[in-house]
Amino acid sequence: MNTIRCDVLVIGAGAAGLMCALTAGQRGRRVQVIDHANKVGKKILMSGGGRCNFTNTGTTAGNFLSANPHFCKSALARYTPADFIEMVERHRIAYHEKELGQLFCDISSKQIVRMLLDECDAAGVQIRTDCGVQDIERGSDGFRVQTAQGLFHCASVVIATGGLSIPSMGASGFGYEVARRFGHEVLPTRAGLVPLTLSGRHQERFAELSGVGLPIEARCNGQRFRNFMLLTHRGVSGPAILQISSFWQPGDDLRLDLLPDRDAEQWLREMKRERGAAELRTVLSEVIPRRLSLRLCEHWLADKPVRQLDEREIKATAALLADFPLVASGTEGYRTAEVTLGGVDTRKVSSSTMESQLVPGLHFIGEVLDVTGWLGGYNFQWAWASGAAAGNAV
Ligand SMILES: Cc1cc2nc3c(=O)[nH]c(=O)nc-3n(C[C@H](O)[C@H](O)[C@H](O)COP(=O)(O)OP(=O)(O)OC[C@H]3O[C@@H](n4cnc5c(N)ncnc54)[C@H](O)[C@@H]3O)c2cc1C
Repeated sequence: MNTIRCDVLVIGAGAAGLMCALTAGQRGRRVQVIDHANKVGKKILMSGGGRCNFTNTGTTAGNFLSANPHFCKSALARYTPADFIEMVERHRIAYHEKELGQLFCDISSKQIVRMLLDECDAAGVQIRTDCGVQDIERGSDGFRVQTAQGLFHCASVVIATGGLSIPSMGASGFGYEVARRFGHEVLPTRAGLVPLTLSGRHQERFAELSGVGLPIEARCNGQRFRNFMLLTHRGVSGPAILQISSFWQPGDDLRLDLLPDRDAEQWLREMKRERGAAELRTVLSEVIPRRLSLRLCEHWLADKPVRQLDEREIKATAALLADFPLVASGTEGYRTAEVTLGGVDTRKVSSSTMESQLVPGLHFIGEVLDVTGWLGGYNFQWAWASGAAAGNAV
């Protein structure tokens, strides 16, 4: 088997790995990137509905979940959304802001992969796909990494193999295994940014409403997200639900404000005054989707002319609409999750170089680390920033 010598071996040709490789390559390092999948950047390609929400202009450390919330600050400060936007503009990729600082390609996420590959190429980086890793050893003269395409001998190894979400796209627990093997702790992982499933009464009552969507505010464990919710045949999805899913665990209290843009009590009193003869379901159908209104009136709310609602009923109805207790039974899991929460404990990793504090020359970047962004371009910004931090250090 041939031996390939390089300065840096990046394992994982996703967002973080490619960014690390091009940064190190630009510094004159000899960089090899390997990936076990048949294609690079698969998650970039499928992201943002094919248009890649590649960053968020409002990114702060507060948009990330981690057992060590300060860890991400240094890298995020040194490689900012503006830095990535500069590269996107240099490559003449047209983009637009969708909402809340979220930047998307106008045409296709393929352009982001093309840009990263062109930058890698210009920096002399070599990339190999269909190249799984069989073994990693560290000796006195660096790392020896046995792969399907030969033995790599290098001074630095960068683990950029991502998390567990979407196994069909090449996700594996490889990075966690390597971390454990070299003495790192891996914090418990679970699916994040993921649809929630319902069971029992709530599942029975909502399943038929699959396809119905509305703006809501989802609240759980002190967090609140105002955005769209979609009812599905298994439960609930849509941006508000994906966001709150990262803060929810089975058994936690999850509340939905179904009328996020109005004061429910005031609105009911107004309806009683002005539309007294109308049934509750009729006036409700004017502010939330009709099928949902009918279902709520069938099972949870008094279905009668609003003038007949006494003060106690107005308060109870408003409370249900503004603070609906949704009993989720679980999540759809890694099959559909956008990210993996938890991962390599950052407390033994340098926040400025992403280098292991236990094994010199070993780096961890991107989603494999216990740093998980909200929905909205934050996860890619973390991949770029942590990739750049390691790429400037290896
Ligand atoms: C459907 C979907 C949509 C998303 N949309 C967005 C979005 O619009 N904006 C956003 O910010 N985030 C989005 N995300 C999240 C984002 O894609 C990830 O957070 C980001 O890709 C993580 O980058 P990474 O480089 O750490 O890992 P990845 O991009 O997952 O790359 C890891 C790479 O490592 C390779 N690999 C894995 N195991 C091995 C192994 N054993 N040997 C060799 N190679 C291996 C994989 O094949 C892969 O190429 C989305 C995720 C999904 C699933």
